[in-house]
Amino acid sequence: MGASFQNVRIIPHFEQGATGGFDVHWAITGVSGAVTFQVLVADNPDGPWSPCLEQPTNQLFALNVGRILLNQQELQYFKVQIFSGSLLLATSQSVTPRSQLDRREYLVYREMLRRVHLDFEKTPGSNPGYLLVRRIFGDKCQVCCDELLGTPVSNECSVCYGTGIIGGYYPAYEMWADWASEAPAFSDTETEQPGPIQEQQAQADIFPYPTAHSQDIWVDRGTGYRYRILRVGHETFEGAPISQNLAMIRLPAQHPAYSFPLPAEYDSTGNPTDLP
Ligand SMILES: [Zn+2]
Repeated sequence: MGASFQNVRIIPHFEQGATGGFDVHWAITGVSGAVTFQVLVADNPDGPWSPCLEQPTNQLFALNVGRILLNQQELQYFKVQIFSGSLLLATSQSVTPRSQLDRREYLVYREMLRRVHLDFEKTPGSNPGYLLVRRIFGDKCQVCCDELLGTPVSNECSVCYGTGIIGGYYPAYEMWADWASEAPAFSDTETEQPGPIQEQQAQADIFPYPTAHSQDIWVDRGTGYRYRILRVGHETFEGAPISQNLAMIRLPAQHPAYSFPLPAEYDSTGNPTDLP
């Protein structure tokens, strides 16, 4: 099967001081080796296209790309390309942030997204965290190659973090979450004995971009707990995603996902602080 795109999604950048930017997220299939991506932008659906990224990226997203929009209702068009080395494997369809929505729907949708974004970050009870998107293609881990033959994976593997693919996960993506009901109360992972633990399920709502998948991990920045995502439900507006609901289980303290690096945090004096 050849490389192809499952989806390409564009959302306006909501951060202050980044007017006109867009976040571009994509999902691909049919790829086994290491690949990189370039994002192209154009003012018209027929081009001319110009590359957004100085260097092709190996992430599944590109942040704050596009041209400054002087007229907020103007559209930009994006394409994503997959490369293996310098060989072009596939180019996506051209997509706009408006997607299938007509102009009126898009303006409503953009406002809904903006509010959802604010809600997750500003509402009491919202929890700062990270989404770790699991790598499903790339180079196989040489340390754990036995795992691919069915023998147990090394919990200490800092090459693939137990996924069998080098790197394990994409870099932590800031993702706030709202516990759907009550925040789960768990015993401290520090004092836990190694071995099977009672399955501890939790539900949380998160922003709709990027798309979370089962087997991805959500990190609660407050407690440091890592949760494996079991199922993802989507709330939509006219087919466009508004939020994602995650059904998750907490991972035991000895799981390799706990050693996956997270961005450094800084205290009020600007010094890095250790995450739990
Ligand atoms: Zn490994």
